[in-house]
Amino acid sequence: MTERLSPLRDSIATCRLCAERFAATATQHSPRPVPWFRPGARLLIAGQAPGMRVHKSGRPFDDPSGDRLRDWLGLNKAEFWDQSRVAIVPMAFCFPGYDAKGSDLPPPPICRATWHDALFEALGPLSLRLYVGGAAQRYHLGTKTGVTETVAAWRDHLPHALPLPHPSWRNTGWLKRNPWFEAELLPVLRARVREVLT
Ligand code: SF4
Repeated sequence: MTERLSPLRDSIATCRLCAERFAATATQHSPRPVPWFRPGARLLIAGQAPGMRVHKSGRPFDDPSGDRLRDWLGLNKAEFWDQSRVAIVPMAFCFPGYDAKGSDLPPPPICRATWHDALFEALGPLSLRLYVGGAAQRYHLGTKTGVTETVAAWRDHLPHALPLPHPSWRNTGWLKRNPWFEAELLPVLRARVREVLT
């Protein structure tokens, strides 16, 4: 299966399916897919979509959200960006643009529909899958609850999966209102990440 990963990665990297959609956004940007996986990855981070900073750098979670996520995982940058150990597969591989209020637009559904089935088949079994934010949780876990309720039920998904809130600064208030996340979930998350990556 893993021999299919390199061609898939190349196809995703050159995908331009959303060119017209992105050209119509306020930023009028071109697609810049950020596929991030190699054979042998054991940890999956399934998120929403790249933001503007990642669109510019070409590296996933290359922003303050990524710093917080790495802290949650107990990984340094070299470990986090090692594609042969960590696969990062969002609901869309490109920055979707901003809405009228300056918030990120939702990931275009055509991305998941085009790439996810083939990609997850080629990735094979992953030892630990982290679902970051509501979009990834609804798709991968089939949850219909909000992020707080889904993450609060984190023990239901162990040992091979965990739902996480998005590590954005916008969720700093959420973290304060839900102290169990740092006190109870994070120690288990860090231990599981170490187990699967060593
Ligand atoms: S978001 Fe996905 S489908 Fe759209 S251009 Fe980027 S890689 Fe292609």
